[in-house]
Amino acid sequence: MTVSAPRYFDHAATTPMRQVAVDTWAEHAHLLNPGGQYASGRAANAVLAQARETVAEILGADPVEVIFTASGTEADNVALRGFAEEPGARVVSTPIEHPAVRETVANLGKRGATVAMLPVGEDGVVDITDELDEPASVMTCMWANNETGAIQPVADIAARANGVGTPVHVDAVQVVGHLPVDFHALGATTLAASAHKFGGPRGAGILLAKRSPVPAPVLTGGGQQRGIRPGTVDVATAAATAAALKEAAGEMDAEAARLTQLRDELVDGILSTIPDTRATVLGTEGVDVLPGHAHLLFPGANGDAMIMLLDSFGIEASTGSACNNGVNQRSHVLEAMGLPDDHVDGALRFTLGRTTTDEDVQFLLGRLPEVIGKARDVAKL
Ligand code: PLP
Repeated sequence: MTVSAPRYFDHAATTPMRQVAVDTWAEHAHLLNPGGQYASGRAANAVLAQARETVAEILGADPVEVIFTASGTEADNVALRGFAEEPGARVVSTPIEHPAVRETVANLGKRGATVAMLPVGEDGVVDITDELDEPASVMTCMWANNETGAIQPVADIAARANGVGTPVHVDAVQVVGHLPVDFHALGATTLAASAHKFGGPRGAGILLAKRSPVPAPVLTGGGQQRGIRPGTVDVATAAATAAALKEAAGEMDAEAARLTQLRDELVDGILSTIPDTRATVLGTEGVDVLPGHAHLLFPGANGDAMIMLLDSFGIEASTGSACNNGVNQRSHVLEAMGLPDDHVDGALRFTLGRTTTDEDVQFLLGRLPEVIGKARDVAKL
């Protein structure tokens, strides 16, 4: 029996490393401490400086504003804790954030910060309210939601919060490498990205941090990277991150068009073959969605059964919500949007990426009606 490669529809969780990132990492793996004042230190620092410059140019920042971290989660923590661990802190956030922000905000709340939430509509988009007019230690909002793919009005939020002097953190982990980003034009104070979402190495993040205001150090150490994220920088990983971002930026427009077409073909196919099915936010007036995101609701279907049945056909997808030891938890994003329980439980996310082909989409469309039928039977047991 020949076993075919899995049909991978979970690119928003992580996407395969680009060959250019693998090669760049290998090329620079031998480099030593970029802080060294001798020849090998200068050689490492030159590669690091080039990586910083590349990232800065693509993301509309200055090289000094580019901080390399060990993950998107770390970048979010460094910014949020750095702005809001002070006594009497006030934090404004949204109910649809990724756990990297959501749990950090909750923890700041437990440590005494006052937390205010902007509401979210049934369309999955955050509403701008006068919570933003009261000064805060930090306002944090994601640029695009990792589950639904809905793009948020971050520039308008930043303008309003900046109006009262509130620093703004944007979790752009799902956007960087997929849509154009101009950090300076956005008006954010800090912005988080993650390399493994655009074909860079896993365990590598980027924090863009304006010269002022600066988050207070969460980690203390040798003062590297403006003291915002001290520790010897992994030059090979930084260079691989920059190489992946450069390639992603170069093919961004063509890839966005290709993925949008494949995604629409997938969603149209699903809606026309499987009864009682809904695209969660796609097609909702006024809502922009990430090109590779297809988030669907199959009311009455069991979520774990859908994932397992798909897996039995070699199709890899997720519900997109937090996963605890392999057990799916109810999505706080869909609950915040006010969706009924049977819709929340029957949510499924397919995210397309660089390796997705039309054949993958046809394969999925061919198997999904059976999967959903069985998963609805399971839910009735
Ligand atoms: N923020 C968002 C919106 C994400 O989708 C993710 C990853 O899924 C993260 C933060 C965390 O990034 P990392 O996996 O690099 O820690």
